[in-house]
Formats: sequence, structure tokens, C-alpha cells
Amino acid sequence: MKQIIMHIDVNSAFLSWTSAYEMQMGIDRDIRKVPSVIGGNEKNRHGIVLAKSMSAKKFKIQTGESLLEARQKCPNLLVVPPDYRVYTRASKALIEFLKTFTPDVEIFSIDECFLRFTDINKKEAVKLAYKIKDIVYKNFGYTVNIGISENKLLAKQAGDFEKPNKCHTLFSDEIKEKLWVLPVEDLFMVGRKTKPKLNKWGIYTIGDLANADYKLISSMLKSHGRLIYNYAWGRDDSMFKPKDSIKSVGNSSTLKFDVTNTETAHIILLSLVEMTAWRLREANMSCRVVSVSIKDKNFKYSSKQRKLLYFTNCTRDIYISICRLFDELWDNKPIRQLGVSISDLEYSHKKQINIFQDELSAKNEILDKTVDIIRTKYGDEAIIRGVFANSDFKPLLGGYPDDEYPGMSSIL
Ligand SMILES: [Mg+2]
Repeated sequence: MKQIIMHIDVNSAFLSWTSAYEMQMGIDRDIRKVPSVIGGNEKNRHGIVLAKSMSAKKFKIQTGESLLEARQKCPNLLVVPPDYRVYTRASKALIEFLKTFTPDVEIFSIDECFLRFTDINKKEAVKLAYKIKDIVYKNFGYTVNIGISENKLLAKQAGDFEKPNKCHTLFSDEIKEKLWVLPVEDLFMVGRKTKPKLNKWGIYTIGDLANADYKLISSMLKSHGRLIYNYAWGRDDSMFKPKDSIKSVGNSSTLKFDVTNTETAHIILLSLVEMTAWRLREANMSCRVVSVSIKDKNFKYSSKQRKLLYFTNCTRDIYISICRLFDELWDNKPIRQLGVSISDLEYSHKKQINIFQDELSAKNEILDKTVDIIRTKYGDEAIIRGVFANSDFKPLLGGYPDDEYPGMSSIL
């Protein structure tokens, strides 16, 4: 089937969305126009730069570096904390808008997606891409890059060409001139670990990879080698999977001390579930599968998941299942990191009354709604569970992992 794929990528998404949001709220500043970063919790030494403005870039501030380093480079740096809810709302609004052009939308990450068209030619596609880009700017107040091609890989590569606010094509007949000239690390799926290996074999550009000895690449890098070799030729046989919703919501926390007893672990799990379930309700969804993960002092990782009897987004129900899973999984070794994740999601409006849910669970759903409203209006910690009062534990953990980058991918 003849198809046109467009890759839509929000330029400096966190910064753009925060800025657009602040404008809407009547806050009299544009964080895009000053040296600014979106950064994790600054009190935490793990706080890192998640996104930076163009003027912060001039100070050589880099995504992923610590806020401490960033401040040394630019003492007047404006640090804006990340706001997960703003990003999900903005992301959802963009997807809804894009669906007015085609029902075939595949979400790739919080700020990237693919559109598929089967009824337009290349020329019309380019025209349409410019139109979409301009209306996004007019309606939402931020810019996007759009890559246009015949498959997802090439569209994504095109979307990564010069930024911001640009449309680029990368059709099969343009591969040599536009793709092969790029450094090999610019190819999708060529990571930091693969680049030095390829360089060692004299492969510096994507063209070098395309014209390298396939047998060598295949024997040295196995299936990953075969994948990137095909990518260098622009071959991508992955299916287009229309998916306009999130697949799972996860949340984990590296602990400041080793946890050695069940009670403490349960409290931390509760704070993780509080945030995870809130995010789920924000997305207007319910889950059917819950899972818990443990990383112990020696960095040994284990996890366990379970299918629930019914779809839920109730903090209490999820928490009870998570604790049971944890109790089954934990081998009493000191814990360094705990994680909670929920999947098999569906939109809540499809939810039906179910016979497995007890009365307390139904009551708790109402409680959750009320708590959500209060927190949205007055802040995360305006209302907290009794167990957290007078304790050193944070009542809600995560929402954004401070110590992981990029992290947002965990919700998709
Ligand atoms: Mg982006």
C-alpha cells in the first residue's frame, strides 16, 4: 500500500509547553526568551537539566547535566520545575488536533507521533505538513518539526533535521544526499555504545554503514547490527500501529537509604501509587495489570506483575495489589530502589459496574476524585494520607523521576 508517513516532533517540548501554559495563565514572562531550563528537583543532588531554552544553550548548558553544573555556567539561570500534568494535557490536546487530519495516529513518545496518509501524493503531503505546522503554532503557541517520508524510520530521521519550526522530506530517492552524509550516530538506534565500535571499523557516516560489509556488521553486532544496517538503507518494515493512547504508567524512586523492613517499603509504595494512580486518572484511564519492581543494594533487579479482576484507577485497590506483589517478591535484601507500574489500560468511560469490587473500593473512588480536585487546585501536598503526617516520607513520590533521563518515555 502506498502511504505517506509524517513524524511530528514538538521542539523543546517541556519548555515550549511550560511557556505556552504560563502565557495562558497570564504569567508575564516567556521562559523561552531567557536562559532557562526545565530541571528536576534542585534540592536533590540528582537534579538534572531536562530541557533548555535557546539562550541557555548559548551558555553551553546541556540536557542531562546537573543543575549545579548548569548554574556554574550561567549564574542567572531560571530553573523551572517540571510539571507532568501540563505535559500530558498539552500532548493530548496536540494528538486530538492531529486526528482531525487523519485517524491514523501512532504515538511514539510524549512529544512525538506519526501520522499516516494513504490518499495523498508527495507534493500534497509537503503542502499539508506546512499547513499543520503553521496551525499548531497559531492555535497552541509552540513550534513543531515535521518529517515526511514513506516509512516511519525515514520520517523520524527527517523530523530530526534542522530545528526548530521546519518541515523536511526524506523520501527513498533522497537517502544518499540527505541521510548518508550524516554522522553514523545520527541514525536512529545507533547509541553511545555502538558509535565507538562502528568508528573503530572505519564507519563514521550513515553512508559508511550502508556500504560496509554486511557480514561483519551482522556477526559483530548480531540482530542490532542487521537492524541499523537496514536503517542506513532506509528500510523499515515495522508496521504502523495506530495508537492514540498511553500503554503504561510507571513511577520509581531511588531511595536515600536502604529499606530493610516491610512497613517502610509499603509506605514508599503508597507514595509511588498515589502519584501513579493520579496520573492514570488524569489521563482518564483505568488499568488491569499492576507490577512492582525492586532493585537491591547490589543492583539486582526483580519484578512481578499481576492481572487484576477488574479495571481500576483507584489508589487503594492498586496499592493493595502492589503490596501483595511486593510481599511475594521481596527476598529481604536491603532495597535501593522501588518501582510501581500499571498497564493494560483502557479509557475509564468504558468502565462497567463489576461484581468483584467491594463497597470500600467504590467509596474510595469518590475519595480519589475529591483528593484529585484539591491537589490540582491547591498543590500536591495540600491533602495527604495520615501515615505521612509527622513522617519523613514524601506523601507523593515521582511524577517525574529526578534521576532518570529522559524518563517521560516510561508513560508511553
Ligand atoms: Mg521533541
